Amino acid sequence: MTILKDVSLKLYSTMRLGGTADSLVEVKTKDELNKAVTWAEERQLPVRMIGIGSNIIWRDEGFKGLVIVNRIKGLEKITENTSSATYKIGAGENWDLIVDQFVGLNLQGVECLSLIPGTVGATPVQNVGAYGQEIAGTFVSLEAYDRMAKDFVVLEKDQCSFGYRTSRFKTVDNGRFLICFVTLKLHRAAPKPPFYESLDKYFKEHKITKPTLIDIRSAVIDIRSKKLPDPAKVANNGSFFANPIIGQDHYKIIKKKFKDVVAWEAKDNYKISAAWLVEQAGFKGKKDTETGMSSWKDQALVFVNEKAQSTADLIKYQQKVTDAVYNLFQINLEREPELLP
Ligand SMILES: Cc1cc2nc3c(=O)[nH]c(=O)nc-3n(C[C@H](O)[C@H](O)[C@H](O)COP(=O)(O)OP(=O)(O)OC[C@H]3O[C@@H](n4cnc5c(N)ncnc54)[C@H](O)[C@@H]3O)c2cc1C
Repeated sequence: MTILKDVSLKLYSTMRLGGTADSLVEVKTKDELNKAVTWAEERQLPVRMIGIGSNIIWRDEGFKGLVIVNRIKGLEKITENTSSATYKIGAGENWDLIVDQFVGLNLQGVECLSLIPGTVGATPVQNVGAYGQEIAGTFVSLEAYDRMAKDFVVLEKDQCSFGYRTSRFKTVDNGRFLICFVTLKLHRAAPKPPFYESLDKYFKEHKITKPTLIDIRSAVIDIRSKKLPDPAKVANNGSFFANPIIGQDHYKIIKKKFKDVVAWEAKDNYKISAAWLVEQAGFKGKKDTETGMSSWKDQALVFVNEKAQSTADLIKYQQKVTDAVYNLFQINLEREPELLP
């Protein structure tokens, strides 16, 4: 385990922006994690654990502490019966490779989460979700180093406060738990309709009447690859804003003016497509010469760093988009990727 000094954080965010970390270390075991945390605590330095940085943006000031990159690996079957199987997975595993393995084993529950970039350990943080599935649906528990208790702890699902793209790890306990292992329970049941709208459309177009898990994974990969840029090639953080929830009265006002508004009923409220809002504000495919940022041509919600010089440029572009959306709809968009520190 080597603690590196003055490391550019551009390499640790798929947006490729940000300053320098005073110290950075990659950990492969719980023991290494313990040593890294002790090293930082002895020097009273802040600590931040990350995966591959696909949902974070580093500030230009950098990080005056220790960044811990989680590389803890492993996939272990814990229990199994005729209807389900439970696995404990290292937080540093690549999420999509794990999804691929479960689909290959004909285990259901995460197939719609195919091709989401990042590590297993980050999935509970924002309760990753796509195409009608979210990690909370299969999540059993996690093992983490609790920086408050200064010990390893196990948290069960009902202790994680999962919500739409959120959890206690993203809100009240942000940065407190350094996740080492995640346990998921997958099912042996065949996939059943109703499927998420865009998947349903895909199956109809491709004349797939009884989609298997492999069909679902292939469909998700196909749909995603057509509209989302690959962060390994194009600097981006995926969806830049979460879909906002608005009240019925507000929705009616918008619907009256914009008949084609894309929205879904959400309990007594409406969830509006943030992509639709950004598109209406005229930003789909926009290239902003002032900041060097752009909005992806096939998905308005994805901000792309084309030539931005700094995170300040990105924030300036974000402000342009949120102001335009607010002026048109009186809706405040909330950023999905986290600005650190
Ligand atoms: C093209 C693209 C598409 C995307 N699509 C989706 C999507 O469909 N649905 C969705 O939900 N997200 C999506 N995302 C966002 C992102 O992929 C997920 O949030 C992913 O889980 C982040 O994983 P990561 O390893 O990159 O985490 P990072 O970005 O490194 O970290 C994210 C947060 O989790 C914390 N964290 C990471 N690992 C740990 C750990 N082991 N212990 C404690 N805290 C940790 C970090 O401190 C930070 O707060 C997309 C991103 C991109 C670039």
